[in-house]
Formats: sequence, C-alpha cells, structure tokens
Amino acid sequence: MIKRLSILGSTGSIGVSALDIVAKNQDRIELFGLSAFSNVELLQKQVEQYHPKFVTVCNKTAYDKFKNSFHSDRTKLLEYETGIKYLTSDPEVDIVLNAIVGAAGLEASIETVKAGKRLALANKESMVIWGELINSFAKKYEAEIIPVDSEHSAIWQALVAGGKKEVRKILLTGSGGPFRELPIEKFKSITKEQALNHPTWNMGPKITIDSATMMNKGLEIIEAVRLFDIPADKIEVVIHPESIIHSMVEYIDSSIIAQMSNPDMRLPISYALYYPERVFSDSAKINLSEAGKLTFFSPDFKKFPLLKLALRVAESGGSCAAVMNAANEIAVSALLNDTIEFAQIPDIVINSVEKYKNIESPSLEEILEADRWGREKAKELVG
Ligand code: NDP
Ligand code: MG
Repeated sequence: MIKRLSILGSTGSIGVSALDIVAKNQDRIELFGLSAFSNVELLQKQVEQYHPKFVTVCNKTAYDKFKNSFHSDRTKLLEYETGIKYLTSDPEVDIVLNAIVGAAGLEASIETVKAGKRLALANKESMVIWGELINSFAKKYEAEIIPVDSEHSAIWQALVAGGKKEVRKILLTGSGGPFRELPIEKFKSITKEQALNHPTWNMGPKITIDSATMMNKGLEIIEAVRLFDIPADKIEVVIHPESIIHSMVEYIDSSIIAQMSNPDMRLPISYALYYPERVFSDSAKINLSEAGKLTFFSPDFKKFPLLKLALRVAESGGSCAAVMNAANEIAVSALLNDTIEFAQIPDIVINSVEKYKNIESPSLEEILEADRWGREKAKELVG
C-alpha cells in the first residue's frame, strides 16, 4: 500500500535528502505535504519538481511573500499558522518526517504522535525538551517514533539483535568534530568558518556548530535516553573519526552489534520512512579494504565541557534539558550572526543551566517556561 508523507523542513539539509529518496521510490511513498520557514525560492522549485498536494510556510513574512508569487495547478498553499497541524494530522497522512531545526520542531512532533502517525524524527531537540510527553502521547495514540539521527538509527537497528534486558550499554559514536585534535590552548581563536567545516558530514549550520562544540553528542545522549528508555549511565560516548560505524549496542554476553555505512544521511532517512522494509540505495558502498583502519577514542571532556554538561543533565532529568537546549540555540545563533566567538558558547550554556533551579517532573507549562527562561538568560549573557 502506498503511504503518504509530509516533510517538515523540506528546504533544509535533511529535507532535501528525503525528497531525493522519495522521488526514487514513488511506488511506495507519495508526497502529501512540504513545509519551509524562509527559503521560499527553494520551496517553489520543490513544488514544481515534486508536486506535493500541500505546502506551507511557517514564517509570516516569508508566507506573505510566497503567497504573492506562488503558482501551481496541483499544489495547495496552507495558512502559515495552521499548516503544520494539517500536515501532521490530516487523516490522509501516514508518515511525518520532522526535519525542522531546533525547539521550533516541538509542535510538529507532538501533533504527529497525537494523530497516531509514524514520526520519522530528525528534530532531536523536541525529544530532548519534551521526550517524556512525546513518548506518552505515542503510547496513548499508538504512534510510531523512528529515529532519523544516524546514531539512533544504528542503535535502533542493533537493538533487533537482543532483548532489552540483555543490553549492557549503548556505545554512541561521534566523529569528534573538526577540533578533535586541536590543542585546548587554541580553542580561543577558533573562527565561525572553521567551526562550520565538519570533517565527515555535510549538514545544516546549527547542527554543524553543535558538532564542533560536541553539544550535538550531548543532545544525542538525552535523545537516546528518551527514545530507548535507557538510563544515561548505560550510554558511553565513543569517538570514531572515520564515521563508518554509526553506533553500537553491547549485550550482556559481551557481544557488540554495530551498524556500518558511509556517512550519508539518506540511509537512516530511508530506514525511518520505509521501515520495516529496506529500499535500494545508490549511496556509495563501503570498500572495507580501502577504508583501512577504524579508530576509537574516549571523548575529551576538558575540551568539550558541553558534553559533560549534557551527561549531567541527562542523569538529572527534568526541565533543565529544555534550558540547556534553549541557551544553546541562542548561543549558536549569536555565533552565526557574528555576535559572539565560538569559544563563548560553552560558557553561555553552562552558566544558564547553573543559574536554573531544575524541576524534576515538570508540567507542560513548566517546560515551556524553562525554554523561555533559558533563552532570556542566554540572551543576557550574549549581551
Ligand atoms: P537545516 O538548517 O538545513 O534545515 C532546517 C529546516 O527547518 C529548513 O527547512 C528550515 O526552513 C526549517 N526551519 C527553520 N526554522 C524554522 C522554524 N522556526 N519553524 C519551522 N521551520 C523552520 O537543518 P538540518 O536539515 O541540518 O537539520 C534538521 C534537524 O535534523 C535538526 O534538528 C538536526 O539536529 C537534525 N539532524 C540533522 C542531520 C543532518 O545531517 N543535517 C543529522 C541528524 C539530525 P528554511 O530553510 O525555509 O528557513
Ligand atoms: Mg547524529
């Protein structure tokens, strides 16, 4: 049976890769809707090339601009305020790929699981902030959540090899980013351009900066805790610069199951969209003899204090994850706007979290308030 898919954040790095996959496998997935935020030129091209039934633009200014020039016989434009709700919950939709960046993806994750659909989740921030709520809605409304993040997709695949009680730990791999080998004394002079130059993955700007500070790996620890319902102390970060193994699960018999491929997000995206089937991919295969050595290291918490902070936040649980995420979003956008230096990001995020009084079992209102508080505090620190 053909499934219908909404791609939220279709103009981003994950969104563009997803469209490429769907165009090559039209016999199984039909495009229902697309959403963008500001890049209306690309959205117009996507409409002409892929003919979704619906599109929306979530930003009012961009929406007005798009509406004035939008033309299509086959695609309908949805209002900017209600478009996401329609694309996630219309009865015709089967799968929603949430590829929006940042806490802005929260509504999409929640609406998708509340509508009982499959959530193909790239937007890790929503899991970090409100994972418990998303999980409880998924259970109540029988929605599936399938990770798109390459590490979590690898873990998901490796978890098939044993029972949950037989898992000893999760080995969450990370490339270590562009500054893995840079001496700590040189961190002060890192430029935005250097931070935007990731050694193995080609991604959107926010996650690329998060990879350089290793906040990304920190967010991924919390994402894994929430997705797999596993305590933080069972997750070990392993630095693997070649990015060939995308994560591993170690079982109580000391077997380790790994998932391997070249670093290409089209693989985990396809897996989440077509699961339980696998589809043909023209992504480059690994030639193991050419790949040569695969290496593994422990993370350096001194150089990457945000990784340590995230571990603490993962262990404590509660509303401080929302504060950490919010402060990080503010600090990263300040770097991208040339307001602060790269080296200031950890201080801003750590200071924000340290000044916050954690709420262990927060309500929805308290989580929203934590997100708002984290943004305000980080803005103060940015100056
Ligand atoms: P990009 O920055 O490339 O794309 C982000 C998308 O979100 C764009 O379509 C953008 O629209 C849209 N968007 C931005 N702000 C808003 C907003 N306020 N409301 C609604 N939509 C918005 O990001 P990536 O594709 O790199 O990442 C997307 C998500 O996937 C992130 O959560 C990231 O952590 C996760 N992820 C990404 C990976 C990757 O390889 N890129 C790997 C693993 C996870 P527009 O462009 O029109 O402004
Ligand atoms: Mg990842």
